[in-house]
Amino acid sequence: MSGPSETGRHALYSAGERKPFTATVECSSCREETRVSYVELGALMFPLHFHLPPIWRYYCSWFRCPACGNRTWMRIHLDR
Ligand SMILES: [Zn+2]
Repeated sequence: MSGPSETGRHALYSAGERKPFTATVECSSCREETRVSYVELGALMFPLHFHLPPIWRYYCSWFRCPACGNRTWMRIHLDR
């Protein structure tokens, strides 16, 4: 038995639910985009990280990726 089709309500949040005090980090190595809290972000940057002006390159921050565990070039999306 099939009922009426689902309305696409979840489509709005397909990129992941946005939560307060979180950001997403995009990895140049594994291409994963992972949502982390600001506290987790601080932990990933400890004890060593670099940041370049975003006009220089897309992946302008260097720290550990939570998805693949490599220290590599990352981009932080504070607005997602
Ligand atoms: Zn990665």
